[in-house]
Amino acid sequence: MEKFLFHRPCPLCGTAQGWLIRPLRYALFDDLGLSGVSPLVACSSCGFVFNDLSEGSEALAAYYRGNDHYSVSTTAGSGGSTPVECARYERLLERLDEWLDPTQTILDVGCGKAGLLLYLRDRGYSSLFGLEASNACRDFVGSIAGLSVVERIEQLPEAPSVVVVSHVLEHLYDPLSFLREIVSASDPDAIFYIEVPNTAVLLDAVIPWSWFYFEHINHFDRSHFLAMIQKAGLAPMAVDTWSFQPGEGSEMDCLYVLCQREENVENNISDSGLAMYLANGLPVQPVSGDQIAEILSTNRDLLLWGLSQYAMLILGMHPEILERLKGLFDVSSAKIGRKIRGIEIRSSANLINFNEKFILIPKSIYTADMICQLMKYDYNNNSYLVI
Ligand SMILES: [Zn+2]
Repeated sequence: MEKFLFHRPCPLCGTAQGWLIRPLRYALFDDLGLSGVSPLVACSSCGFVFNDLSEGSEALAAYYRGNDHYSVSTTAGSGGSTPVECARYERLLERLDEWLDPTQTILDVGCGKAGLLLYLRDRGYSSLFGLEASNACRDFVGSIAGLSVVERIEQLPEAPSVVVVSHVLEHLYDPLSFLREIVSASDPDAIFYIEVPNTAVLLDAVIPWSWFYFEHINHFDRSHFLAMIQKAGLAPMAVDTWSFQPGEGSEMDCLYVLCQREENVENNISDSGLAMYLANGLPVQPVSGDQIAEILSTNRDLLLWGLSQYAMLILGMHPEILERLKGLFDVSSAKIGRKIRGIEIRSSANLINFNEKFILIPKSIYTADMICQLMKYDYNNNSYLVI
């Protein structure tokens, strides 16, 4: 691996240099004012894998404040109240059963649209708090009776006795400091439930690159996850893995820990296993050379449907595709009308007018439905490519 000096110190140990695993680059929305340059690196001291961001913590904080994706998204993990989300909450409550009762004060960190808190409220819990960076999500929750959602930890009116931090740490510029603040704002006997994606199994995915979201800037295996928990002053009581949502994917997909406060826990880890796993196993580029050749060989105009973060990674990593693109399409109201490299995103309903074009579809859970839609619009099998 190539030597690399960090703009962003190692989030686990503070070291300023390490190794470049892959030079990630995203073509983000033009209105964000972010470069999208996000190299995947490993710390030379502790081996932690993360993305080096030249733009600093304030740029990322501004991104999350203004991000209304989670207020309109219905995908699992956005903190809503869909049946899939409720199945996740039910599984979590079963796991926390021995520590939960309705007299406790519960904090959901990164609560989104407060789906978990509403689920608890319906089951008799009344002391419910959320912490949420997105202005749009807090506005959404603000009108719901019985819930209190704040932007910053110091605004919490009470010290929580049960704290849920699920799929948050991987998003944060300084996850260790954040965790320490949460711990010090909580009851001394509080129980913490903390869950992150398990990057140690990422290469088992059909398309590993599709799991590198721009927002995921910290990548955990079990040893680095536990090291961060312990450095934050927490002692693990149980560590395990399970799927992101019950019955879907692999039972290895997510790492979680149940822990309590403990002083003087030291963990001086040095483990480059995850860095080597990714450096040796991750394909060099998101789209293969064969697919690039197929895409560039068409004489038809190229359109891309589905502006996921994976799509933005493809566009950032493959300028040869971006240069040929004549249109971008999506179904989300949070994306339609915005621009990427000057190209305005239009509603996918307009695709009915373009069946002589060539559509690129970055693979997602919606791919099969999208192909069905193209068939209804009289596209044929040679007029799209799933990448
Ligand atoms: Zn480190």
